[in-house]
Amino acid sequence: MSPALVLDVPTLFKLMFLVDMVVCLLLTAYRADAHYAEAIRGFVLGRLLHGSACLLLGLVGLLPPALSLILPTSMVFLGYSLEGATIARLRGLGRLQSVIPVCIALIGIGFVHLGTWSQPYLIGIASGFVSLMCLYTSLAIVLPAHRTRLVWMMFGVFLLNCVASAVRSYSGFFDGVSLNDPSVPQTSGLVAAYIYCVGGGVGFLLFLKEEADRALLRQAQSDPLTGLLNRRAFFEALGEGLAACELGRSPLSLLCFDLDYFKSVNDTYGHQAGDEVLCKVSAVVAATLTAHGFSTRPGRIGGEEFAAFMPCDAAGATQIAEAVRLAVMGTRFFGVPGLTCTASIGVAEALPVGDTLQSLVRRCDLALYEAKARGRNQVVLLNSQLTTRPTKGNSRNVWATSIP
Ligand code: GH3
Ligand code: MG
Ligand code: MG
Repeated sequence: MSPALVLDVPTLFKLMFLVDMVVCLLLTAYRADAHYAEAIRGFVLGRLLHGSACLLLGLVGLLPPALSLILPTSMVFLGYSLEGATIARLRGLGRLQSVIPVCIALIGIGFVHLGTWSQPYLIGIASGFVSLMCLYTSLAIVLPAHRTRLVWMMFGVFLLNCVASAVRSYSGFFDGVSLNDPSVPQTSGLVAAYIYCVGGGVGFLLFLKEEADRALLRQAQSDPLTGLLNRRAFFEALGEGLAACELGRSPLSLLCFDLDYFKSVNDTYGHQAGDEVLCKVSAVVAATLTAHGFSTRPGRIGGEEFAAFMPCDAAGATQIAEAVRLAVMGTRFFGVPGLTCTASIGVAEALPVGDTLQSLVRRCDLALYEAKARGRNQVVLLNSQLTTRPTKGNSRNVWATSIP
């Protein structure tokens, strides 16, 4: 091996110890809410074990083998397994699945303690088990849904360590390398472990931040009572949808719902019952959209007013609006048996060119107004591009179609 590429193995181990300690300090200082505190504790404990083990491994030859080889190998196993279990839990895996790396670690510890292994064989066994645990962690990172770029990077860090450890394990068993041997597999295995120390630690911290940001964003976009998009987030999403549909020349329709005589629900049954109605109706609207294959989240744009948009033409949207109307009418409420609720719904389709958020919403509002004017509990689709209210008496069949 070229002397330029030779890395001093004991120094690498000591550097890994330092990196682990810095990562532990940063994580301990990170102010996370209770939800992440347990994950941070698990990760820090794992890294403390790993880092201390690296320090002992860096002192090989200066300490008796039991202290500089056997003990740190067991600590490394426990460290990797705790980290793997913590990451698996964070990625949403169940308790049973996250116990797998701990089982692998315990089997590894059994192996190390049951035989009297030569140093190369011990390297082979240790690296083999590390490789297995890294494989587990990389799969736990990448298999669950919602893979951001950071998730892929973390996957790469663990997979690199998995492959490099497997190569190092092979060279322990078949090439007879010792711990301080600066051979290619040995050095590259330890460089991959160093990358894991830095990349895995910083990546974990960023992962926590990304998760916390995502939760905050969801909270900022959601209506606290119903869980639907709030007014601001809904109109933002609608604006984006409108721009995308104009760009792709695909249709987009908007539905605006308003519950009929909702004030009397509050007046008769109380505000709490009114809240239950709002929640239940929101769930029914969302479920009906999902059942029709639309994934866009509806919004609560006012007290008892909701809206939803979908990539389909007015005819399709009218059918969905009718399905929503029937579903709302058929909804029953646990807290208030006997109560039924109806909704008036306006429908408007975006014009192929030149439509703005304001003009589309205005037409949908007019259609909703018309549904109210015609007696409520109905769907009205605006036919023309009129943007002013029709005068009473001439509205039917002139500018809007009422369903049924
Ligand atoms: P219309 O058929 O004309 O729409 O009649 P309405 O009674 O539904 O309309 P109105 O605008 O007169 O009343 C809306 C009511 O919605 C008044 C308000 O107390 C109620 N409301 C608004 N937000 C909430 C809420 O968060 N919870 C509850 N329980 N009621 C709410
Ligand atoms: Mg209203
Ligand atoms: Mg109302």
